[in-house]
Amino acid sequence: MANCELSETCIFFNDQMPNMPSTAAVFKKMYCEQDYDKCARMMVVKAVGREKVPKDLFPNQKERAEAIIKGSGQ
Ligand code: SF4
Repeated sequence: MANCELSETCIFFNDQMPNMPSTAAVFKKMYCEQDYDKCARMMVVKAVGREKVPKDLFPNQKERAEAIIKGSGQ
């Protein structure tokens, strides 16, 4: 399976987030290389657009992503 289509520019994937968790490598394997449809960052991008993705949103923060999507009136 190919990597997430956003991986080239994703700040999580490119280690540019303010506080990278020690589990980042695991998340990359889980999300960026496999289940990117389930990634919280991807969910927000797909639903409401890339500019709505908080800098510090991690791939596993699905509930936070849902709240952002709801808050955007979608
Ligand atoms: S799966 Fe999520 S964290 Fe990984 S590259 Fe795609 S949008 Fe970024």
